[in-house]
Amino acid sequence: MDRRSFIQTAGNVAALSVLHGTASPLAPGTPGKILAIAAHPGDGMFTMGATLAQQIERGGSGVLLSLSLGEKGAPKDIPVQQYGEMQRAATEKAAHLLGAEAMFLSYPDAEIPFNEESSLRVCDVVREQKPEIVVTHWSGSWHKDHQNCHLIVRDGLFYAGLQTLQRSRPAHPVSKLFYADNWEDASNFTPDTYLNIDAVYEKWLQSCDFYPMWRGQTGFFRYNDYYSSLAIMRGCLAGFKKAVALMSDSNQRTDRLQSL
Ligand SMILES: [Zn+2]
Repeated sequence: MDRRSFIQTAGNVAALSVLHGTASPLAPGTPGKILAIAAHPGDGMFTMGATLAQQIERGGSGVLLSLSLGEKGAPKDIPVQQYGEMQRAATEKAAHLLGAEAMFLSYPDAEIPFNEESSLRVCDVVREQKPEIVVTHWSGSWHKDHQNCHLIVRDGLFYAGLQTLQRSRPAHPVSKLFYADNWEDASNFTPDTYLNIDAVYEKWLQSCDFYPMWRGQTGFFRYNDYYSSLAIMRGCLAGFKKAVALMSDSNQRTDRLQSL
């Protein structure tokens, strides 16, 4: 058996919350809460939205936290601030359609800072939302906001679980951390977990369609063609019709066995 995990949506097959045999507060098969943390709203919905939707479909819950509004991706004919509000509105509609909650920290796009303040703000969201699973950016990105988001989440989760760190809410350790399949974060991205999204694929596409960027109205990249096709390609590898590929954090890839 290789290291890839193939996850069905129901029945007695392993769920996303109980991978790799490590400790989890949830019983096997119990859907939990996923917190997706993205630098920009489009990253969140296009690369993490189907994962949220699948968990919600199974009876769990999902929250999408955007560290910025992605406002500097505005096309020439739309002022930056107006585009940011369009991004916020699209994200709220998209999250609502999936049954998820949308949250924003509203750091300036292209200037998301990696420091104690931003890490502690993510820590506070984690302590407030109490997710079992977090999904965020992989570190191998050319985009500085994506790199910083990865680092902010790393430190934010460390702080969230640190019992002796006094904040307004008590510590909350997160048992599972996954990285999303993003065309801008592709350097050394090695997926090991494939999630069956057949049941939520169409709804997820509808959610993505709220964004002008998805429809090719803001730039050259064909987000809709790329991510809708990627789900089919990942599904081919996983033996599902449609799938999301995730990369698990290296710290949760250790098997602890009495024997082979
Ligand atoms: Zn981005």
